[in-house]
Amino acid sequence: MTRDPLDVLHETFGFPAFRGVQQQVVTRVLARQNTLAIMPTGAGKSLCYQLPAVALDGCCIVISPLIALMHDQLRAAQALGIRAASLTSVDTDWQETQDRFRAGELDLLYVAPERASSDGFRSLLARAPIALFAIDEAHCVSEWGHDFRPDYRLLRPLLDSFPDCPRLALTATADAHTREDILKQLGIAPDGMVIAGFDRPNIRYAVHPRDGLTRQIGDLVATNPGPGIVYAQTRAATEKLAEQLGRDGRRPVRAYHAGMPPEERRANQDAFIASEDMVMVATVAFGMGIDKPDVRFVVHAGLPKSIEGYYQESGRAGRDGEPAEAHLFWGAEDFARARMRIGEIEAERQAGERARIAALGALVETGGCRRAVLLRHFGESPPEQCGNCDNCLSPPDSVDATQTARKLLSA
Ligand code: ADP
Ligand code: MG
Repeated sequence: MTRDPLDVLHETFGFPAFRGVQQQVVTRVLARQNTLAIMPTGAGKSLCYQLPAVALDGCCIVISPLIALMHDQLRAAQALGIRAASLTSVDTDWQETQDRFRAGELDLLYVAPERASSDGFRSLLARAPIALFAIDEAHCVSEWGHDFRPDYRLLRPLLDSFPDCPRLALTATADAHTREDILKQLGIAPDGMVIAGFDRPNIRYAVHPRDGLTRQIGDLVATNPGPGIVYAQTRAATEKLAEQLGRDGRRPVRAYHAGMPPEERRANQDAFIASEDMVMVATVAFGMGIDKPDVRFVVHAGLPKSIEGYYQESGRAGRDGEPAEAHLFWGAEDFARARMRIGEIEAERQAGERARIAALGALVETGGCRRAVLLRHFGESPPEQCGNCDNCLSPPDSVDATQTARKLLSA
């Protein structure tokens, strides 16, 4: 028996409505159609499998790469009254969990990929009805993705041994290659892909060649009074930049990186969250799981690791929907260094890394709309001009282009 998804949305989750593509994904899952959902961080991917888990008979098996992530979700699901458990190396109640599963008393069962592919687990699954397989962070299955986990490759035989059971893969990360690879590796048809809107229209994107970085960022900080994050590339650069930006004492500046003592890190993070004008200079270790709606600007003091990383980090600006800015400073050395690093990684990961750098090159070097480059990367078909990025607001190449065109015409 299947419960009405809207009833479950209201009664179990307490939400008035679906957001974005959630309804489309949930409808597909309830119709037993294999699906790959590509939705940005914060879009609400968990609900896409948790709701069917509650609505459908049988248990939803969730594959997730990190125990910490799993346990966060587990606690949140249990708080909603969902019957959820996990089988990981740190759980001590395996017997009870397996008994509950066999008795049909679980809606959600979280497991790590290496566990999921074991024989023992497969025979456990044969003992009770399965509603669906949810593969979270599905980019981990692809060598093209930025976070390849070989264990994800072992999932396919498990999925194939339950052919009547729908599979739902979810990720925030997917350039065209990774996406194709996920479909292929997990046996999902291309028309099973659902892509959410990635646009953040209130963020104004701007990209600048580096030319006296400290002064450039200092100017930005001076003209943007709200809270902001400056991403530096190394721990040393983080501390130095924080010191330089804070020197004139005009506004509070703090630093954050994984090498700092945990208490200091925590104190700086708490101060930032409470502040209305603080600048946080940080490595990309800062921001995961931090929900500060009123961040007014995010600065990258150097080339990010990937478009996905850039989207996610700059996306911490303007969560409240009010105008916000994202500034990226880059130099040719960034690309030289990135290319050098490629030579040092395993051969099978080089192609993916090269594609990531090429995509960043396209973003910083375009004379066209930055937003269009970003959105096309995520598979959308945006308009040519957004009207809210540096190039749309003041077209840089119009003069050059005209001159080039003139030269071509006169030649
Ligand atoms: P993701 O995994 O895509 O990053 P999550 O599943 O963690 O996102 O959800 C992000 C936040 O959005 C959570 O706080 C969740 O409760 C909330 N959320 C999800 N769906 C809805 C909805 N339909 N209405 C309101 N809030 C929602
Ligand atoms: Mg998630």
